[in-house]
This record gives sequence, structure tokens and C-alpha cells, in this order.
Amino acid sequence: MAGEKPAAAFGFLSDDNEGEIRGLREELVNLGLETVVTRSIRKPTSRHLDGFPSDLIGAFDLHDLEADRYRRDFLLWVAVDTRLRRQIKAAVNAPASVGPLLGYPSCCVRREEDLHREMGRAFATAVIEAAGPDGKSVLAALRNDVKVTVETSGHANLWKTDEAYPFVFHTACDSCLASSESPTGKLNAQFQTLAAELDPALQRTILEMARLEVQFGRICSESDDKGLSPETIDSETRQRLDSFSETCEGLLDAFWDSSWG
Ligand SMILES: [Zn+2]
Repeated sequence: MAGEKPAAAFGFLSDDNEGEIRGLREELVNLGLETVVTRSIRKPTSRHLDGFPSDLIGAFDLHDLEADRYRRDFLLWVAVDTRLRRQIKAAVNAPASVGPLLGYPSCCVRREEDLHREMGRAFATAVIEAAGPDGKSVLAALRNDVKVTVETSGHANLWKTDEAYPFVFHTACDSCLASSESPTGKLNAQFQTLAAELDPALQRTILEMARLEVQFGRICSESDDKGLSPETIDSETRQRLDSFSETCEGLLDAFWDSSWG
């Protein structure tokens, strides 16, 4: 990783991942790597709600605080230099964006931030519409885990990135998707070379996973366009999605068995 990326972060999709994080940390420390464990990144919903009435902003802030209290999810960072510790903590605790620290191109980081802003504002607007225009009703709705539908754009970039640049870790912006000479295109070439040098099996597994993720993403996009949600999707499509997930898990298991077994 040295020279390729200043830092990398590992998380496990779970509200309580402390055991898994500690286990992985031990392995990385044994490999002689610098690690930092932090809480997961949780930015307040209200950071995008400028212009909203203050009692509504207060309701979102209070709910974020309440939700955080029960979470025990952590991130494990690997850094090339211990001096990155301060930057890592700033990205976790303050409004600093985490993308630059992970070596993502600034054009793609900007796009991601715009998308978060669009989603944050659309979500808050939908909750307020469903609950009523005062802070008390909004807080009650959030505490009751109100379900709202939010229309946002740009999700197709996720699988389009897998298709064009299977080796990068971020979602590419439109301009990066348009040219392999873009910052993302160059990163992809660099990471592909690295993967091939480390282990040809790693390179093959990444390519195969990306191919599955593209098919998965395409189906999700098409279903989305038809106005279908995960709940209303037909059973045949659901089965296809489930089988993609199983194949992905199988690929990963096979890779770990061959590399570490
Ligand atoms: Zn870009």
C-alpha cells in the first residue's frame, strides 16, 4: 500500500463490530502495519439543512445523538505514517471529508458530497412532509423510524464505476467515467498493476466480483426505474439478486482459502 494510498479504512457492516475490528487489527499489527481504531464516521443530518427552521434542525440533531448512543461500530485504519493520526481523527470527528485522506480524486469527492447534500435535504423534506412542520412531530416520526421515499439521482455511477474501473474504491464522477485518462482512470490502472504484482488470483477475483456487481447494480437500477423497491420487486428478480450475493461470497471464500489457507 505504501506509496499508493496514504491511508485505508476497514469497517464491517454491523452495529457492533468491535470483535471483528480487534481481530483484524491484530493480524495487521503482526504484519508490521500502523493501525488506528476510531468510531465510525457519523456526520449530523443537519449539516445539509441550512435554511431549514431551527426547531426542525434541532429535532434531527437530537435524533442523531440518540441513535449514536447505541452504536458500537468502529473503523480500523491502516496508515503509511503515524502522523496521519490527526488527519484521521479530523475526518472522523469533524466535517472534514474523508475522501482526500483515502486518496480519492477531488472531482469524485465533490460529486459524492453534492449527492449526500441532495439526499440529506430530500430525506428531511420527506420526513417533514410526512410528520408535520414542527420539531416535536418530526422528532416523534424519526423515533418511530418513519419510512419515506426519496428520489435522488446518480446511483448508476456506482455500477458504472465497477464496470469501467473495477480496481478503485470510490464512486467515480461523470467526467472520470467519460475518460480513462481521468484521475480515476489513472488510479484504476495503478491499482490493477499492484493487484497483478501482489497475486494474479487477487486481480482475477476483483475482476470477477466487479462483473457480478455490475449485473447486480444494473438490475437494481432497472427496478428503480420501474418504481420497484426491495419490498415490491418480483420473486424471480429477488432470486437472481440473492444468487449474485451467494456467488460473491463464494468467490471471496475461495480467494481467502487459496491465499491464506
Ligand atoms: Zn472524478
